[in-house]
Amino acid sequence: MTFTERAKTILGPGGWLSPEDATGYLADVHGPGGAALLVARPGSTEALAGLVALCAAHGVAVIPQGGNTNLCRMAVPTEPREAVVVSLSRMARVVEVNTAAATMTVEAGCTIAAAQEAAAAHGLVFAPDWGARGTATVGGAVATNGGGLNVLRYGTTREQVLGVEVVLPDGRVWNGLRGLIKDNSGYDLKHLFIGSEGTLGLFTRLVFRLHPAQPVSQSMMAVPSDMTRLMELFALAREVGGERLTAFELMPGIGVEKALEKYPALTRPLDTRADWYLLIRLSDRDSVTDVLADLFEQAFEAGLVSDAVMAGSGAQEANLWALREQMIPIQYFDGAMLKWDVSVPLDRIAAFLDAALPAVRELADDAIPYAAGHVGDGNIHFAAFLPDDIRLPARRAALYERIDRLIWDLGGSIVAEHGVGALFRDRMRGQKDSVEIDLMHRVKAALDPRGLMNPGKLLADDESR
Ligand SMILES: Cc1cc2nc3c(=O)[nH]c(=O)nc-3n(C[C@H](O)[C@H](O)[C@H](O)COP(=O)(O)OP(=O)(O)OC[C@H]3O[C@@H](n4cnc5c(N)ncnc54)[C@H](O)[C@@H]3O)c2cc1C
Repeated sequence: MTFTERAKTILGPGGWLSPEDATGYLADVHGPGGAALLVARPGSTEALAGLVALCAAHGVAVIPQGGNTNLCRMAVPTEPREAVVVSLSRMARVVEVNTAAATMTVEAGCTIAAAQEAAAAHGLVFAPDWGARGTATVGGAVATNGGGLNVLRYGTTREQVLGVEVVLPDGRVWNGLRGLIKDNSGYDLKHLFIGSEGTLGLFTRLVFRLHPAQPVSQSMMAVPSDMTRLMELFALAREVGGERLTAFELMPGIGVEKALEKYPALTRPLDTRADWYLLIRLSDRDSVTDVLADLFEQAFEAGLVSDAVMAGSGAQEANLWALREQMIPIQYFDGAMLKWDVSVPLDRIAAFLDAALPAVRELADDAIPYAAGHVGDGNIHFAAFLPDDIRLPARRAALYERIDRLIWDLGGSIVAEHGVGALFRDRMRGQKDSVEIDLMHRVKAALDPRGLMNPGKLLADDESR
């Protein structure tokens, strides 16, 4: 039997798609990826382990795929070698919600939205949350250590994971499905796999910690009066809101205008047309209106905001957040998108914007700069849209060099929460010293010596060490 015939036998009926029937699995937001021998859709850990062992025996690469919502070319083939895409879409069950321990065991292909709903049914919160929640899977969230809208309150996805079950590159299964808050019994191996973008193994089941529900949320949209004082406003929000502060998001005026134009169901929350807006959310078990009103007043008194509105109803609250979710710029601008997923220490957000926006205009005066994101986490999604003309390669290189350097000089990272994938792989090297890069290669070589897992992502195969 050929490799493909044996793979189909292991996977069983309904467990695979031929490439011609699976074009959606072989392309992502950046367009078509490379070819695959087949798209596997295993229905169990055992079937997946059997397939991976077969791939190991034949030297076939394995590309794990969840909802394929990543933004960094991570879950499709990119290298010229034989590969199988493994979709976790048939392993999507919520196995157990343990209310007494406040934990949840979930199969890796379960969507974030389904995990949130299962937790909410027990009065608990599954913390990972972002716009792609209906399609992105918990496996993808853990493999990318996703951030999103709840990091301020609960931390990143990594901080939610208590246990993992992983199919290793040789087909063995590591059952690390522990629900322990404390376990100092040696190297905490799960942390190697979390955020490894499918380059070390495949998650099949995960144990997450859950949190008490905070069913009441109320937000305000504000116009900062002076962007250099942005973090003074954040400090005030943290002081007044305390633990209730669950989001502090930056929205660019240009993004708000584009979203209002494109989505007629959205309504304009403030008459003021500003370059920047902030979306600040407080959440608790009971009403947060008084605390939010206190913040509102103090922010005006301190001269930190020039206009603001508090959501006065559930519909207004939903409108503010629907607006926020449409800040993804790729839907609004043509041309080449240059992208940075900026992370800087909190006190350097304003310095970053102050330097980055003029730098883009200086190097490409026809470029459209764009910045939005989770400033309360020190994270800004920064992009520049450039006309696709003959000057593009030189201007692209100059802009990457200037903005990357600026981020590193501010002590930051060009890869905050979306991950590295194939998109940031080569640029990411510039922010790590040779010792760190060497350690990463050693970890990869120890767990996946033949480089079968998601090749071409995160680390280059042929990189000289
Ligand atoms: C509208 C929108 C908003 C977004 N907002 C945010 C945001 O606020 N914060 C944020 O962090 N991200 C955000 N993202 C990015 C994206 O949703 C996340 O990266 C998400 O974690 C990807 O999950 P997925 O299931 O789609 O994974 P995929 O895209 O399928 O895969 C992502 C990576 O994980 C690996 N992988 C997937 N499943 C497994 C598995 N079971 N085992 C091992 N490896 C696996 C893949 O190989 C790949 O490397 C957004 C995306 C969109 C489209």
